[in-house]
Amino acid sequence: MDQSTETFSSATTTTGQVARRSVRVRRLIVSAITLTVMAAVCGHALGVFKPTETNVTQLAPGVYFRKMEWQPKFIGCNQGWIVFEDFVLVIEASFPNQAEELVKEIRKTTDKPIKFVFDTHWHGDHADGNPIFIAQGASAIASEQAREQFVQKGVPSYEKQKQEKPDEYGKLKYGIPSIYFPKRMIIEDATQRVELIHFGHGHTPGDAVAWLPKHGILFTGDSCVNGPFNYTGESNTASWIAVLTEMSKLPIKTICPGHGERSDNLLIDQQRRYFVELRQAIQEGINAGKSLDEIKKSVDLPWYKEWAGVDVKERAENIEHVYKELTQK
Ligand SMILES: [Zn+2]
Repeated sequence: MDQSTETFSSATTTTGQVARRSVRVRRLIVSAITLTVMAAVCGHALGVFKPTETNVTQLAPGVYFRKMEWQPKFIGCNQGWIVFEDFVLVIEASFPNQAEELVKEIRKTTDKPIKFVFDTHWHGDHADGNPIFIAQGASAIASEQAREQFVQKGVPSYEKQKQEKPDEYGKLKYGIPSIYFPKRMIIEDATQRVELIHFGHGHTPGDAVAWLPKHGILFTGDSCVNGPFNYTGESNTASWIAVLTEMSKLPIKTICPGHGERSDNLLIDQQRRYFVELRQAIQEGINAGKSLDEIKKSVDLPWYKEWAGVDVKERAENIEHVYKELTQK
């Protein structure tokens, strides 16, 4: 596959480059979407995938990004780590097997202790690996607005995974975060500064991002993805647009999305455009008296296919979600 053999030297992309790459991989996109959506909803329900097909690159001194491939298999979210003077901060635990792999990758770069793991949100493909880091002495951090989802949804979801994937989850105890911040938390020393920021309800009520102002690098979690990865089931798309607008005011040079290729600040505009135009198109259908089924057949955003590699109609669950938001049904 083009994507799996790609190196990070080509990964600082414009959205145009992203679009071209996406077009090349269209043929597998439908199954990948199914995998992605299922994983987003229930935390990789399709079996234990081997933690292969990953790439690590150093973005700045002590700042690393690990891109997770998603074709032919969905194996987890993108991750990162920041090496401070005395410790390491991990961004995104991912699944337990990927957390173990990440520890090995970190050890190739530093022997400093892993002190924190930041979960952008509660979804299993982002946070189920917490116990691997907690066992090493780390504390898991999330936004205060995510706490309820970890408790209400994360705990039962994790128990289900233990039943379904005893080899990966069986011996582990759910690693619920122990540090919560209200809007912003700053972790800083003489070498690094990381700002964990909750902008509002986007992909989930508790989404937060990691902003590295010294380098202009933003780790977005699923607030901003690069490809057909948007899952809207727990979202508020009007608020999500506002979140992306606020986020785009940061002087961003590099975006490390929750899924898909690394990009520049233009990725946020692409991501926002999807929700703005999807809402507009569905509202127009509602105003014209169309039913949900009719809207599902008529919504047309050709540029989305150029970006995400899949026709907007194929993301039917997102159309249903926005229709419900706009009709209050
Ligand atoms: Zn998610």
